[in-house]
Order: sequence, then C-alpha cells, then structure tokens
Amino acid sequence: MRRTVLFRRCWAFLPDLQTRRTSCTRPEQTGGQVRSSMGTDAAARDGISTAIRPWPAPIDRNGHRNGFASNMCTLLPVRTRRPTISPRATEPSPLTQPPAADAVLRFVNTHPAGPHRLPERFASAKDLHAWLMEQAMGSETTHVTEADAATARELREALITVLLAHSADQGTTSDVLAEAESYLRHAASRYPLITVVTASGASLAPAQSDVPGLFATVLANATELAQAGVWDRVRACRHQPCHFGFFDRTRNKNAVYCGPKCGSRESMRAYRQRKKALASQRDAPPD
Ligand SMILES: [Zn+2]
Repeated sequence: MRRTVLFRRCWAFLPDLQTRRTSCTRPEQTGGQVRSSMGTDAAARDGISTAIRPWPAPIDRNGHRNGFASNMCTLLPVRTRRPTISPRATEPSPLTQPPAADAVLRFVNTHPAGPHRLPERFASAKDLHAWLMEQAMGSETTHVTEADAATARELREALITVLLAHSADQGTTSDVLAEAESYLRHAASRYPLITVVTASGASLAPAQSDVPGLFATVLANATELAQAGVWDRVRACRHQPCHFGFFDRTRNKNAVYCGPKCGSRESMRAYRQRKKALASQRDAPPD
C-alpha cells in the first residue's frame, strides 16, 4: 500500500518533468542517480528521494532504439536510509530535578555570565532586595545592606567553585576548592540551621530570618541534596566565562556544559589551542 502511495506521488511530478526533459541528466552520464529538485520536501518527509532515470526508448522493427523517447524521464522512488535515533537517546532520564536543586540554582544563576546574559542580580542592596521580592523570600520591609549584597556574591562564588569541581573543571584546583569549602564552613557557622522534626519527617530550616535566612536556606538545600545523594549532579558549566549552574540528569553523570552551544565553543577553543601549540613547535629553532 505504501509503495503505491509513493509511486502516485512521484507520477504527479511527471508532467512537469516532461516539459523540462532537455535538462534531465542521464544516470550513465553521472554514474549514478540524480536527485530531483522537485518534490524533495515531501520526499524528505517520507524518507525517500526521487531519482531521475531515462525512459526506455521504443525499439523499432530493425532492432534500433528510437532516440526521440529516450530523452523522456520518469521519477522512480528510491529508498534512502531514514536517520535512526537510538530509542535510548530519546528516552527521558527517570531522574527529576529536585526542588532543593531548583533553589540552589536560582541563587547561583544570578551572575551576569551564562547563556542568558542576565544582569548581575546582587550588584547592590537594592538589587538583592528586588531579587528577594521576586523569589517571595522578602517583603517591602526586609532590611538589606550593601554588606549583605557582598556576602551574597561571595557565597555564590564559593558555591560555583564547588559546582565547577563537580564538573571536573581543570581550572578549579585543589587549593581553590579548599578555599571555597573553608568559606562555606565559615558561612554555615554564621547562618545556622535548626532541625525541624515532625510526625511526617525531619528537615533543616534557617535559624534566622530575612537575608541571613536566605543564606541559611541555600546551605540547607545543599545539605538536603547531599543527603539525597545527588549533590554532585548540581554542576556549573565548564565553559569560561559561562559557569551557569545546572542539574545533570544524564544516566552516567557526564554533563559538564549547560548546553550544546557551550560544549562546541569549548571544543573550538581546545582546537585553536592545539593548533597554536603545533605552530609554535614548528617555528621553534632546532636545538
Ligand atoms: Zn554554559
């Protein structure tokens, strides 16, 4: 049935083709099939290509082919390989991004770099206050100081360093990571958490309110993710200067970029560096 439909579609182009038969290219001249420019959209949708082949000329009584009809062409459907997509590749990961990761990423993705080129959200006390209002974590009366905005930037930088370590970023050395971890330990003592125990479970909650409560909430969410065994899935894009935070939902935990654009930019940078290194080796004077 499907073949019949395909033939009907191709025959539909025949009148048009006959009017242009002088421009047809014969397969023996090209050594193969010639893709038609007609109906390619429909054919591509159906996974077929149309090929122009010579119409066999009639044979006269002397056994010679009449050259008149040999220029006529017909379109024959030719099966092409349909692009195959592994079902595993399209299968969604069963892992969903937990709400605690959402909260951490909302805090981390407030810096001006990143794929969305957002403005710096913690540039000043006013900016931090506006962000708190957006996140429904503050009110008009919430008191925010410039020191709070500076602390928010520092806490964010320390968290990004840890998230870059999760992405195995080469620029995040052990010394840099140790410094960030030390800062986070110090922040945890300044913004403590309390355990809230109920009949349905137990959770960590900030001991303070307002801006100190915000910082403690971020740390509580990081703790929750670590206890759930998914803290290392919260990562920062390895592409410099993007460093956009994301949650790695891949099965084998191998995502290191926030998206394909950053991945290809990083590949291009590595390629240029290799090319430069080769050129400098070539130009170096012999020993
Ligand atoms: Zn990125």
